[in-house]
Amino acid sequence: MFFEREVDILKVVIWKKAAMEFITESAAQTQALAKELMEKLSSREHSGALVVALTGELGAGKTTFVQGLAEALGLEERVLSPTFVIMKHFDLSASEHFDDFYHVDCYRLTGPEDLGELGFEKILKNPKNLVVIEWPEIAKTVLPIDTVWLKLEHLGEDKRKIMLD
Ligand code: ADP
Ligand code: MG
Repeated sequence: MFFEREVDILKVVIWKKAAMEFITESAAQTQALAKELMEKLSSREHSGALVVALTGELGAGKTTFVQGLAEALGLEERVLSPTFVIMKHFDLSASEHFDDFYHVDCYRLTGPEDLGELGFEKILKNPKNLVVIEWPEIAKTVLPIDTVWLKLEHLGEDKRKIMLD
């Protein structure tokens, strides 16, 4: 298929939901990729919250990626792994596209109903919310159909493959 040179490839890929993969060679590169992706996704139409699901084993770079997203949104607070809290909320009033950011870690969930208790359904309905989920597999059934799925893979000490579904 032919695309004009000016067309931003990443944007096209997101629209068409075609798979795409990137290799990064440092945490900083993964964060830069996250930033770029955030810029494309922010302007995309979404009826409810924008949901980004990050899969990949421990140390793959999920939290590192989230730090890049947060930085792109002007969040000054440092994002850490929320493993012990399931869901952490950040104020995004500095961002033009979102009001609130929820960093979710499903590692310790026993099922998607655990999220219900945290008011997750309501969070998903608001298009001004950005929801980024680590270990999202267990919550798959409650995530919106237009969830952006990213898979991070450990290739070497500082090398990671990041796949966009
Ligand atoms: P996860 O949340 O998937 O368990 P983290 O982001 O917490 O992973 O940890 C990834 C670790 O790997 C960090 O210490 C980070 O600095 C390091 N790292 C090295 N190279 C990369 C890379 N290319 N991308 C992301 N993280 C990297
Ligand atoms: Mg993590």
